[in-house]
Amino acid sequence: MSAKPEIAERLEALRARATELGGDAVLLSAPADVRWASGFTTPQDGKVVVTRDAAVLITDSRYTVQSAQESALEVRMIAGRTWIEVAIDLLAGSTPVVQADHLTWHAARTLEDARKAAPIAAVDLTRPLRIVKTVLEQERLREAARLTDAAFAFVLDGALRPGAREVDVALALERYVREQGGDRMAFDAIIAGGPRSAMPHGIASARVLERGDLVTLDFGAVVDGYHADMTRAVALGPVAEPLRSWFDAVLGAQEAAIAALRPGLSGIDADAVARDRLAAAGLGDRFVHSLGHGTGLEIHEGPALSVRSKDVLEAGMIVTIEPGVYDPEVGGLRIEDLVLVTDSGSEVLSHAPKGYLEL
Ligand code: ZN
Ligand code: ZN
Repeated sequence: MSAKPEIAERLEALRARATELGGDAVLLSAPADVRWASGFTTPQDGKVVVTRDAAVLITDSRYTVQSAQESALEVRMIAGRTWIEVAIDLLAGSTPVVQADHLTWHAARTLEDARKAAPIAAVDLTRPLRIVKTVLEQERLREAARLTDAAFAFVLDGALRPGAREVDVALALERYVREQGGDRMAFDAIIAGGPRSAMPHGIASARVLERGDLVTLDFGAVVDGYHADMTRAVALGPVAEPLRSWFDAVLGAQEAAIAALRPGLSGIDADAVARDRLAAAGLGDRFVHSLGHGTGLEIHEGPALSVRSKDVLEAGMIVTIEPGVYDPEVGGLRIEDLVLVTDSGSEVLSHAPKGYLEL
C-alpha cells in the first residue's frame, strides 16, 4: 500500500515535533491533520493520538469498515465513551502536545482534569511539517490543477455567457469536477460579474450575467484530498475603461510575481513584487488582500505571501499567486495561478489561458 511509507514519515516528524515542544506525544484534533497523519478521509469524525510507541485513530462505529480500509494507524472505536475519554487512556503516562488553535476548551479542560496537569498547548503544530510538499503531494496537486483547468475550458464552451446566472456557471464547474472524478470543489465557487466583481469573495449568486461584464471565476477541484485554486477574469463582450486597463495591470503584476519566485525569497518580498507593480499603476490601494497562500489538504495553508509573512520560500512549496484590484464604483478582477517553487525558480501548475479573453 503506497500510503504507508508516507504516513510513517509523518509520524516520525510528529514525534520529533513533540520533543521540540517539550512533550512526548501528540493529540491531533484538526481534521486536515487527522487525515494527514492517518489517511482517514472523514477526518472531521476522527482524532489521532501519537505516543512514543503507538499511533491510533479514534473514531466511531459508523466508520468501522471505512477506517479499516483507509487508516494506516491502529483504529480505536469510542464505543459508548467520548473521544476525549479514549484519548486520555491512550495518553496515560505521556506529556501530550495539543492543538491550542483547534482543540475545544471543553476537551482541553477534561484532559487537564484527568492528568492533573495542563497539556502543552501548541499553535500551528503541523504547519512546519506540511509546508513543503512531498513529490507524491505535488502529483496530487498537479492533478487537481489539471482538473481545474479542464473545468474552466468546459464552462468557456457554453455555460459562461450573457443570460446565464452566476450560480449556473458554478454548478457547471462543480458538475464537471465531480463527473471527472474530483472529490469535490475546494470551496464554493466565486463567480462575480458586473458590480459584484468588486467583491473579492463574491460567492456565485442568482445575478444574471450581462454583456460587458468582466466575470471573476475563482474555484478549484479537490483530488485525493488536495486542493487546487485558480482565478480567471473573462469578458462577456467589450469591457469599459478603466476596468479594461486594470486587467492588464493585474496580469502584469501576477506575471512579475511568478517570475520572481525562487527558493530564498521571503513571503514579504514576493508580495511586494506585485504590490509595487500595482502601486506604480496607481492601483496600490485597490489591492486589498495578500498575494497568495499555500494549498494542500486545506485550501489555505502555509506559506503566506503577504506584508506580514514570516515565511521564506523553499523548493517543494506550492503557492497561489493572486493579485487583484477592486473598486465598488468600477468593479474588479483577480488572476490566480497555482505555482510550484522549484530549485531553479518555479513551475506554474495552472495551464488555463489567462490573457484578456472576450467571449
Ligand atoms: Zn482562489
Ligand atoms: Zn487563493
